[in-house]
Amino acid sequence: MLEVRNLRAGYGAINVLWDVSLQMAEGGLTTIIGPNGAGKTTLLRAIMGLVPVMQGEILLGGRRIDGTPAWHMADASVAMIPEGRMVFRDMSVEENLIMGAFPKAQRAHVKQRLEASYDMFPRLRERRSQLAGSLSGGEAQMLAMARGLMSDPRVLIVDEPSLGLAPLVVNELFEILSRLKQEGRTIVLVEQNTERAVAIADHVYLMQGGKVLLSQAASDIKLDQLHDLYFAR
Ligand code: ATP
Repeated sequence: MLEVRNLRAGYGAINVLWDVSLQMAEGGLTTIIGPNGAGKTTLLRAIMGLVPVMQGEILLGGRRIDGTPAWHMADASVAMIPEGRMVFRDMSVEENLIMGAFPKAQRAHVKQRLEASYDMFPRLRERRSQLAGSLSGGEAQMLAMARGLMSDPRVLIVDEPSLGLAPLVVNELFEILSRLKQEGRTIVLVEQNTERAVAIADHVYLMQGGKVLLSQAASDIKLDQLHDLYFAR
């Protein structure tokens, strides 16, 4: 289980998260939804060690991971697929993937992991030598996902993957998220596409103004009520 307890975090003197607590079950898909500026990305960055924790704790499997620098998170088997893809545009698809297996412990498995990536994302196999900067938005998102998976993480944190993508590509993306969930990975998904996110999730958190407004099992969520809450404040 990935657990965040009473977290306060932000940027320098600006506090963004106020006493945020969440529990993300092992092997489950937890979605975090909320309007722009709610603090969702800041929360993911704090988990990844990219934003300093000012107060509170972050635990993985009962062990504290707050204070762990981002470059050690792969050793904790946690990977983040950032908002906006962030692929290395001047590198080929395959070079981007290899970067995902950069941590020392992963390097021996590069070939095997590349094959697994290409099996899951056949289009990337076709485009393995193409520069990442020339991919379509959908292909770049798939590459970002595949690169995150190169370290074979137990916990996968995905920030707004469907942003700006065509409906067919969004379908493909959610199918892949379902498959990753079936593989038993713990998934934390931040999404603006509330309906799709709730449909695939086990648990839903709604954030607003740097706080958790709602925590509910996805099966108990009534979308109308959720939307009312979402737009109420
Ligand atoms: P979005 O859906 O727009 O990405 P979000 O819920 O992910 O929103 P955050 O990106 O976490 O929200 O932003 C929360 C607050 O933190 C916003 O008010 C934002 O302006 C501020 N913020 C984000 N990044 C920085 C930064 N690097 N320095 C200062 N403030 C920041």
